[in-house]
Amino acid sequence: MELKKNYIDGAWAESVTGRTQEVINPATGEIIALTADSSEEDTNRAIASAKRSFYVTREWRNLNGQARADMLLNIAALMDQKRALLAQTDTLDNGKPLREAEGDVDDAIHCFRYYAGLVTAPSGVTYDVNDGFGPMHSYTVAEPVGVCGQITPWNYPLLMSTWKLAPALAAGNSVVFKPSSNCPLSTVMLFEIFHEAGMPAGSVNLVLGSGGAVGHTIASSMDVDMVTFTGSTKVGQSIAADAVKNLKKVGLELGGKSPNIIFDDCDLDGAVEWAMIGTFFNQGQVCSACARIYVQDTIHDAFVEKLKAKTEAMTIGNGLSNPDIGPLVSKDQMEKVLGYVEKGKAEGATLVTGGCRYTEGECAGGFFVKPTIFDNCTQNMTIVREEIFGPVACIVPFHTEAEAVEMANDTEYGLAGTVCTKDGAKAIRVMKEIRAGILWINCCQPTFNQAPWGGYKMSGIGRELSVHGLEEYQEVKQVNIALETGPIGWYEH
Ligand code: NAD
Repeated sequence: MELKKNYIDGAWAESVTGRTQEVINPATGEIIALTADSSEEDTNRAIASAKRSFYVTREWRNLNGQARADMLLNIAALMDQKRALLAQTDTLDNGKPLREAEGDVDDAIHCFRYYAGLVTAPSGVTYDVNDGFGPMHSYTVAEPVGVCGQITPWNYPLLMSTWKLAPALAAGNSVVFKPSSNCPLSTVMLFEIFHEAGMPAGSVNLVLGSGGAVGHTIASSMDVDMVTFTGSTKVGQSIAADAVKNLKKVGLELGGKSPNIIFDDCDLDGAVEWAMIGTFFNQGQVCSACARIYVQDTIHDAFVEKLKAKTEAMTIGNGLSNPDIGPLVSKDQMEKVLGYVEKGKAEGATLVTGGCRYTEGECAGGFFVKPTIFDNCTQNMTIVREEIFGPVACIVPFHTEAEAVEMANDTEYGLAGTVCTKDGAKAIRVMKEIRAGILWINCCQPTFNQAPWGGYKMSGIGRELSVHGLEEYQEVKQVNIALETGPIGWYEH
């Protein structure tokens, strides 16, 4: 079986210890690849390579914006040529239905194109000032931060890599990248594309391996100027603590437990479909999943009946055959989700449908969980409070708007939220009350390169995508020019 290697200083390299890790297809339980299982030493080699690239050879950093944009467009074109293979790779590695993986690849391609455009747009501000030292012309320049460490999760392997790599490279940084060891394969392909496109040696470095060895080394290194991370809140906290050592810049995209408030004046069929997308898309392994579903008591029974019928009609299978729902990413994740199902039952929620592993036909060896609905949930239940990261909807009935808003905000997280109502004023009112970074009204989950992505509270620090996503990877320098040369007579009294 081919070994997937690290990419350091423009060359592919095994880990110094020769250790490897297995990559499993979650639809079958079979091993589909081996990757390097890197150590602290491998990681430090990659960091040294990025440091040399940024501070010594400066090839990538010194390119002008147009030249960097041309390279990003070239990368996007190569991704487009390999669209089918990239999508199949994410489906094999992660389990997601092929049409979802294809959507991810398209979004990733557009993300590189978007930042290619943005990096050639005018930036900075100018102002004329005089605060007693004579007239000055003052302006700002955006510069790359330096060596950026980037660490990603397994739920959107290619897309999460792209959301970090495209803006960091557009800004002129050098990167050390660590994907999740659960789903590293499409990111390895992306680095093959970087190589083919001719990215300068050392500007992009890939280290495959565990969080404890590779991730921790990146986050705590004195030679890394910035670390950006997408993953669980718990690991995000440890990364922030590691980063304190040299006060590196930190960007954190963390977990969530987002609400979906459904009022009785909504379009009921629309609300049911968006609730399914908000809960079951990507097998529910979505940070912005809106699986805490608050339904107004007057339509509660009708909503649950429709949701149950549509959920039970969902097809389950190997992602390659394009079902509605594929396997969870791993045996561990499946067991974690089934553990939450048992907690839900034990704490008194009503199991409406699902709630067990699915092993029929081709699914026998895979890690499938039937789409699950719990009804009559209450705020204090574990399944309402904690991020499950699986296909589990938790329905909580409510009576008044104020009650719904209060319950929606009763969480340590603040990533996203959804409101379903045909009353525009009510939608805006509730949207303004929800303490979260991403709000959907009469829809759920669509994401755009143009719009900032990120959370309030324990869902993160900073924003990805949009112009904000580029600015995260830039330092801003102010430059002040005296408009009159010569002495100003400050010490002449
Ligand atoms: P995770 O936190 O377990 O792992 C994420 C990454 O961190 C992996 O690459 C892992 O190897 C690495 N890591 C683990 N321990 C580390 C350590 N001590 N130091 C440095 N790196 C370490 O998360 P996961 O299970 O891969 O992904 C699921 C989580 O990601 C969920 O909580 C989900 O909400 C979150 N997520 C958030 C967003 C967002 O945009 N806010 C997007 C996708 C996923």
